Amino acid sequence: MPSLPDFPVFDGHNDALLRLWRSPDPQAIGHFLDGGADPQGHIDLVRAREGGLAGGLCAIYVPSERVLDDQGNWPTPSREDALEATTAMAGLLHRLEAASGGGLSLCRTAADIRAAMARGSFAAVMHIEGAEAIGADLDLLYLLHAAGLRSLGPVWSRPNIFAFGVPFRHPHSPDIGPGLSGHGKALVRACNDLKIMLDLSHLNEAGFWDVARLSDAPLVASHSNVHAICPHSRNLTDAQLDAIGDTGGLVGINFGVMFLTPDSRRDLAMDLSQMVRHVDYIVERIGIEHVAFGSDFDGTTIPAALRDCRDLPTLLAAFRTAGYDDASLRKLSHENWLRVLERTLGG
Ligand SMILES: [Zn+2]
Repeated sequence: MPSLPDFPVFDGHNDALLRLWRSPDPQAIGHFLDGGADPQGHIDLVRAREGGLAGGLCAIYVPSERVLDDQGNWPTPSREDALEATTAMAGLLHRLEAASGGGLSLCRTAADIRAAMARGSFAAVMHIEGAEAIGADLDLLYLLHAAGLRSLGPVWSRPNIFAFGVPFRHPHSPDIGPGLSGHGKALVRACNDLKIMLDLSHLNEAGFWDVARLSDAPLVASHSNVHAICPHSRNLTDAQLDAIGDTGGLVGINFGVMFLTPDSRRDLAMDLSQMVRHVDYIVERIGIEHVAFGSDFDGTTIPAALRDCRDLPTLLAAFRTAGYDDASLRKLSHENWLRVLERTLGG
């Protein structure tokens, strides 16, 4: 078993804010901070410390109605709903920091993340997954940046004024629908100017290549896997992986079984070696510098071999068994994310 202090995990995606915002339990936020008798979801600060989860990108996601339209796509939420959810979850992250007694730190730079990790404070980076709250004038982008926003996926898997998210299809190519709109191109430029990381994970393929052409930052897919192994539309083709590698970017491996198993089955008994396979593939194709974790904790169904963030050492042990040495485990667990965030957000 790897010892924890050497391999703290900085993770590319969690939905803890959504879980807490939606929870009907008035104790949910208190239990996130102090653990609680009956652990809920995949993350709280007590379990994070136990499992060596040192921090990560905390997503603000506007939930879709779970009713698909005639084409099998999720509807786009209204601007009003998006504004309410986005501003509430941004505020909630600040509230968690204030209430945590130093247990959680909202980080704006790579230096902030390193400092939080060094003092054992959960290093949270504010991320938006689907920018429906932001209008064509982009004014709210500037306000959210001032509130700590440092990472943004223009879309979730549905269309908005900026781009077309990739619908969930299996087996299917991610090449579904057109690329970025004019507003989407302006959003990419504004994110580059503000040093907000752009996340490609829910973009369709045309949108991915538009960002690749426009952005001056490393290309990042914070929670996506290998299409050659699991041909889901949310996963990355070889050409996309190559582009990410060429820019010094990063893929965060998603722990969701539907993005890992070749047939996209919700196979809870899936062996952790299946996750190693995805990482092996990326390592062989573009190198160990370009892969890390993007768990999707609190947002997806993970293998039963992992209860929640407490079992990250079990996952790292699977990589150790597969031959990953200390230097590789350090890159996988946190060094790669810190390098990319340093280049993108600044020191
Ligand atoms: Zn997602």
